[in-house]
Amino acid sequence: MRLKEKHEITEVAEALSHFEGFLRRRGFKVTRTRLLIAERALSMPGHFSAIELWGALRDRGTSVATVYRTLDLLAEAGLVRRCTLAGTSGAIYESCLGRRRPHGHLVCRNCGRAIEFKSQGLETELQRIAEAQSFCLEEAVIQGIGLCSRCRKALS
Ligand SMILES: [Zn+2]
Ligand SMILES: [Zn+2]
Repeated sequence: MRLKEKHEITEVAEALSHFEGFLRRRGFKVTRTRLLIAERALSMPGHFSAIELWGALRDRGTSVATVYRTLDLLAEAGLVRRCTLAGTSGAIYESCLGRRRPHGHLVCRNCGRAIEFKSQGLETELQRIAEAQSFCLEEAVIQGIGLCSRCRKALS
């Protein structure tokens, strides 16, 4: 189930109860571990990998596999977004809470930092191009690759 655009969830507590409802509807058990992973994932300020999230939870005895599985469920519930950033291997996640949608990423090819920017206009343009080709656009991934200001300074 996708979250309605109109009602945007911005609080972790509300997101957790939404996730609980999602798990129950799908016939999954609501376990302490799942909720713990969800809470941490939803509170992450920036982009993170499953391994980084697992590292943040390491003392709780959670397995990497459970972290991956829970992130998949959170993505299905529309609470976490999975994005593939150019130049990085593996999926990167971001919490949907309080995040601009849609947004694009400027990815630094040196340090891997991803800077977010508003991409509404670009997505509208992509949609227009797709429609002209009778192409059904399911997702717009807008990224720029280059060097961030820090790396430009360090490398000059
Ligand atoms: Zn950089
Ligand atoms: Zn982002």
